[in-house]
Amino acid sequence: MTYANIILPLPLDGLFTYTIPDALAPKVQVGVRVIVPLGKSKRYVGIVAEYPITPPATEKGIENGEKKIVYKDILEVLDATPVLLPQQLRLWYWIADYYMSPIGDVYKAALPSGLKEQDGYRPRTELYIRLADNFRNERALTLVIDSMKRATKQVDVLMAYLQLAGVDEMDQISPKTEFREVTREELMNVTHASIGIIRALLDRKILVTYEKEVGRLNHGSPSRPENMKPLNEAQTEAYNQILIQMMGHRVTLLHGVTSSGKTEIYIHLIQKAINEKKQVLYLLPEIALTIQITERLKAVFGDQLGIYHSKYSDAERVEIWQKQLSDNPYSVILGARSAIFLPFHRLGLIIIDEEHDQSYKQQDPAPRYHARSAAIVLGQMYPEAKTLLGTATPSMESYYNAKQGKYGLVELTRRYKDIQLPKIEIVDIKDLYRRKIMKGAFSPRLLSAVREALGRGEQAILFQNRRGFAPMVECRQCGWVPKCPNCDVSLTHHKNMNYLSCHYCGYTMKVPDVCPCCESEDIRGRGYGTEKIEDEISFIFPEARIARMDLDTTRTRNAYERLINDFSAGKSNLLIGTQMITKGLDFDKVSVVGILNADSMLNFPDFRAYEQSFMMMSQVSGRAGRKGKQGLVILQTKSPNLPIIQQVVHNDYQSFYNDLLVERRDFHYPPFYRLIYVYLKHRDENIVNTAGLELGSRLHEVFGDRILGPDKPAVARVKTLSIRKIMLKLEIGIDYARVRQSLHNTIHELLKDKRYGALQVYFDVDPL
Ligand code: ADP
Ligand code: ZN
Ligand code: ZN
Repeated sequence: MTYANIILPLPLDGLFTYTIPDALAPKVQVGVRVIVPLGKSKRYVGIVAEYPITPPATEKGIENGEKKIVYKDILEVLDATPVLLPQQLRLWYWIADYYMSPIGDVYKAALPSGLKEQDGYRPRTELYIRLADNFRNERALTLVIDSMKRATKQVDVLMAYLQLAGVDEMDQISPKTEFREVTREELMNVTHASIGIIRALLDRKILVTYEKEVGRLNHGSPSRPENMKPLNEAQTEAYNQILIQMMGHRVTLLHGVTSSGKTEIYIHLIQKAINEKKQVLYLLPEIALTIQITERLKAVFGDQLGIYHSKYSDAERVEIWQKQLSDNPYSVILGARSAIFLPFHRLGLIIIDEEHDQSYKQQDPAPRYHARSAAIVLGQMYPEAKTLLGTATPSMESYYNAKQGKYGLVELTRRYKDIQLPKIEIVDIKDLYRRKIMKGAFSPRLLSAVREALGRGEQAILFQNRRGFAPMVECRQCGWVPKCPNCDVSLTHHKNMNYLSCHYCGYTMKVPDVCPCCESEDIRGRGYGTEKIEDEISFIFPEARIARMDLDTTRTRNAYERLINDFSAGKSNLLIGTQMITKGLDFDKVSVVGILNADSMLNFPDFRAYEQSFMMMSQVSGRAGRKGKQGLVILQTKSPNLPIIQQVVHNDYQSFYNDLLVERRDFHYPPFYRLIYVYLKHRDENIVNTAGLELGSRLHEVFGDRILGPDKPAVARVKTLSIRKIMLKLEIGIDYARVRQSLHNTIHELLKDKRYGALQVYFDVDPL
């Protein structure tokens, strides 16, 4: 009897042990999928993680001493060869371990559904038609055609089939004749024949049908390295520097201003890797960016390029996965976060573009992993692989690592063709509001800049980091604000559909006609979301062709592509958006960018607020004036004198970094300390409160002053669950594995208390 340990797609720690029936034993190996029973009637697709193993024969019974364990049989082995390579499995373990999330959750995040479900993925098949074997000679065929004299339509269809199959003359036909394959659809299109006529030919057994698997993946054109643009002097210098830095470092940071031509440098590095028969993983934080960069990469790498992200259908993702396992995998994978899980045989280069971007961190559900960190770890599992981080605004962590010499560092300070960086003008809106000369959310200066740009046939971008119409509505009589019944937040107004919605749980309701408290009808929105910006600006510029890009307008891959392509092609000329539009998009004719409200970002109660704001403002500014002349950015703020605003204006990353580093050191934050948040959730506020206090004091006994809290987070109830948060601040160099073990143990002890049966506890490691 042999045994295996299996990973199941369940949010449970650890592996599950099963027995392998002798008949299946030859097929079992690490990395294949198996169907296993669980409980009374459930079945799951699991992954063999360890095989063979020696399981414990007995366990301690609670009162009866030793008790023999009876393991269940696996039922079926689904794969002839593993769907996971050893490196992928190691990455799963690392993520589960480091981010303290169950391995089953990692499995769920990593594999496309089609590979996780018992009858998930179906290969796409097409119906083909061919001449039956009996008629594959001239005599038999002529005879049967003669006998069909009155069924002229059938004869026509048969002749059309022969033509499509590449047979022009009847006397060519013999059992050895090679027929081109013809699909039923093709035949129907050519002949305009009804399905009935084709069926008649099938009934006469003259034609027969068969099914054939066809891939969903597009077959691109062959690669054309000659389409690579030659690098200019500064780029060549950076390229060479990168290669030098990579000799001494596993990870190198390319800090290059916006439009310095980083992407072109990546393309050259990718081509070099391909020449050396290595594979490349190119990560981007946002699907919108993959859409734009796809064209540039396709032109050079053709059908060696595969694209992988969540807006692709699951079946397509399964096919990419399988192609990566095959003998003919893609050389380059361009993808968002989840592409780190794809199998690679010979990974040689990982590019993490816009490495500062917080979309690389998965927030919910578990595993709450950072794709940048995970990709770096993945790279270390391939002996030859190097990782390149690229950005105009490095994250504090990465820049610190580079400055410490842990990462290589290459700086590129000039824009391609020396296009000037945009001019950033500050507009003090506090003063303008007081003097009542703001027009809604717009200063006169911003409006005139946009008007001039549009008048010259150029484009403008307006950045407002909130979607919806208004973040809240309010009764002007009594101050009543509609709140989500499930969460501690006010509801966002979406005016187009005239409803209120909760951005945490999705709850919606109609906007009430009268206030339920005072029956006043004066209920109005407060604050600005992208929808309201769109609404107001379309009154001011009725001629403008306005587009809006936020979560609400980009639910599908096509919607995304259309928005970006339309703006690129000039079909729209005024783009309004949330942080989505700040990210590395490359538009030619944008001459004005408006940042509508810097303060809402800066005032966000989080230690990363300044870092995030600086990056968003710098990035969105970088969209202005990419080709031709200098762009203009209008930065509206109520606090024009803050040093960080000046640093944005002067594109002064160094001062920004130095200032923030001092703050991070003094207040014990990354990169000097590592954070872990422990979250507790329960329906009952009292229980979560007591549990939080108790856990806090237990952890304090172990970790001392490294523990802060419990606290109520900014949104203290989500989806009817009340939340408490405990923060751990860990000095660098602490034995991190022991910390995790103590954390797990302490929580395990806490959860033995019957009162906490339904308490949910989870971790956010390296939170953003
Ligand atoms: P970044 O990635 O640093 O923001 P890009 O690579 O997108 O910069 O380059 C900005 C623009 O300059 C793009 O339109 C790109 O095609 C062009 N460009 C950059 N380098 C070259 C080059 N060596 N030859 C021709 N065009 C280039
Ligand atoms: Zn009221
Ligand atoms: Zn809600």
